[in-house]
This record gives sequence, C-alpha cells and structure tokens, in this order.
Amino acid sequence: MTLTVNAERFQRDFDALSQIGATGDGGINRPCWSAAHLEAQSWWLARAAEAGLELRRDSAGNCSAILRSETAGAKTLLLGSHTDSVPNGGRFDGALGVLAALEAARSIKDADLHLPVNIEVMDFADEEGTLVGILGSQAVAGTLTAEALKNPRGGRAALEEGLARANLTEAGLLAAGREPSTLAGYLELHIEQGPHLTRNAVAIGVVQGIVGIRSFRVIFRGQANHAGTTPMDQRADASLGAAAFTLTAREMVLREFVGCTANIGQITLAPGAYNIVPGSAELALEFRAPDLQTLNHLEAALMGLARVSAHQFGLEVSTRFVGGCAPAPMHAVAKEALTLAAESLALSYVPMFSGAGHDAMSLAHLTPCGMVFIPSREGISHSPLEFSSWDDCVNGANVLLRAAILMSRTP
Ligand SMILES: [Zn+2]
Repeated sequence: MTLTVNAERFQRDFDALSQIGATGDGGINRPCWSAAHLEAQSWWLARAAEAGLELRRDSAGNCSAILRSETAGAKTLLLGSHTDSVPNGGRFDGALGVLAALEAARSIKDADLHLPVNIEVMDFADEEGTLVGILGSQAVAGTLTAEALKNPRGGRAALEEGLARANLTEAGLLAAGREPSTLAGYLELHIEQGPHLTRNAVAIGVVQGIVGIRSFRVIFRGQANHAGTTPMDQRADASLGAAAFTLTAREMVLREFVGCTANIGQITLAPGAYNIVPGSAELALEFRAPDLQTLNHLEAALMGLARVSAHQFGLEVSTRFVGGCAPAPMHAVAKEALTLAAESLALSYVPMFSGAGHDAMSLAHLTPCGMVFIPSREGISHSPLEFSSWDDCVNGANVLLRAAILMSRTP
C-alpha cells in the first residue's frame, strides 16, 4: 500500500475554500446555511463534479460526492466532516476533513483502484451548533427528534431562517436517516483542537472515543443579610459554597479523574449587591469523561462535593440535570485501520480521546466510526489563530486515505 494524496491539489483546494467567508485575519465566518456556508458547499461540490464524482444533497442539507464501486450491492464507506464554522472561527476546523476526504476519493479514482465499497465524501450540516448542533449527522443517524427542533440552541427563528435559505424543511430533516446495513463505516480527519499532539510532538492521534458530557445547575442557598452588621463567623454566605466547590472540583478532577474535565462556566450570586451577603449562588456545571462508568463516578463525586461544600459553610444545596450526551466509543475496525495506516506511513501516533464533540458522536450509533487527529498549534481552535502545519494536514489526509482503503477491504 503506497498510495498517497496529491498534496498540491489538496493545498490549492484548501487555500481556495479558506477564502469563502474569510474574515481577513486568517479565520472564516461560515455559520450553517449562511450565504458563505452555502457558497462553500457549492464550491467543493463543483470541484468534486470536475473530478467525475457523483453529487448528492440529502433532505437534511448534507452534501455528498460519491465514487461508485463496480461491485454489485456494494456498501458505502462515508468519509467527511463539515464546512460550517462557529462565528469567526478558524479555517481548519471541519473544512480540512471535507477536503481531505475529497482528496482521498480523487486519489483512489486517479489510481484506478477498484474498491469493494462506494466512497461517499460527506459535508455534514450544522456540526458547530449555530442552529441545533451535529444536526446533519443526527439526521443521518436517525436520532434527530421533532422535540430537538422545537427549542434549538440557536433559537427557533435562526433555524427557520436557515432552513428557508437552504431550501429545506423540518420534515426533510427528520426523514434523512440512512439504513445501517448499506453503510461500511465512517472515517473523519479533524484537527485536535487541543495541545496534546503538539506538546508531545506526535503526528497522529488515533481517536479511541468521544467523551460523554453532562450539564447541571448547582444552587447553593444561604441567607441574604446585611454585609456590615452580620458577623463574619455567623453568615450563611452562598458565594463561599460556590467558591469552595469550584476550587475543590478542579483539584479533585486533577487528582482522581485523569482524562476528565469539569467546568463551572457561570456563577450567579443573588440578590447581587455590594452590601448584601449572597443568599444564593447558582452555578452552571459541565463535566466530561471518556466512558460511561467514569462519567457516572465523576457525577457522583461532584454531587457529593457539592453537599460537602454546602455543609462546610452552613448552606443548603440542590442540583438539577440539564442535559448531556453519552460517550461515543470509536469502532475497533476503524481504530485498527487508522493505526495500520499511520504505521505504513512511518508516522508517530498515539491513542487519545476527543474532548470535543464531532459528527462521529452521532454516527457511532449507526455505523463503525473512526477519527484521526492532527496537531493544532498551541491547541487553539474556534479562533482565527487556529493553525496546523501543511505537512501535518497532508499526513492526516494520507492516514485517512490508507485507512479508508484498509477499511473498505474489511468484510
Ligand atoms: Zn469541527
């Protein structure tokens, strides 16, 4: 297996796509179904058509370019990512994966390699969640619900406007599910969006799974009181419970939950004045873990810590589950193919978990999934400063290409 991608063609395409929705500071602004995003989709589909690939746009607005197999009844191996971005995001997140997938399909075609599967390059709608979040891949996986569309994170109006611009309907979104028996798997190249690979000078991350996430509201209740006349040792100050919880949660995760994260992203004190001891403190808590058992343990530990922190300062505490998603393990066959591909290219690689959500999170319920990461400079992402060296991008595309070939031949 010696096939590699056409690095020059890949780079020309990447530079051209980076101009669509460019913000002038190295970044791009392509929220899902904005004019720039629709233009980006049309642009890469035109490139795929030039290469002789078959085009498809499903009823959820996912765009595909297909290299048909000559094998009768062939299954389809999906390769892809997303061309939408967060507002004022970076040019590598998602776009690199779509173009690497396109380049892989073209390289297979150029080499006249007859694979026993169809290769379908996919650009999933609204991965970034300016509207719903991993919308296109949830639609394909058949896990999108009408309920989720009623109160989407970007608001109803934004979703309705987006659907109108893209000439799509809600019914279409809910009808875009694919039949698992027709699929051979899904592979995605993505930038790491964290510092691990760069810090350890490793070329390739073979993703073992995508972390599970849970969110809670944590509310400490004490007694609002006069800030001047209430003795310091007789206060039921809700801010102290919040502070103790925040600091101790960090220490606990660092010490006892390696590979996990916890974040208190918001603390609201009430009544909220210079001269009133806070009567309540409401926290937005989110935590992530690579597997379900650890996620459950972490939840139990954090809830226990909230009670201890409350008790320490004479407070009451209540917690409310807000939402979450289950960890998504990557498939053994895909991990094996990506590992062998990295080895065949003599690239350094390391198994790792993804702390960020990706389309593979939804697709893991549908078909065997695998992801390959390449280094992100300083771990920066969702920013115009997001950067990966072109050598790293090409390495990632070659791993994707070879893993796709290996996986296509796995019965
Ligand atoms: Zn992404």
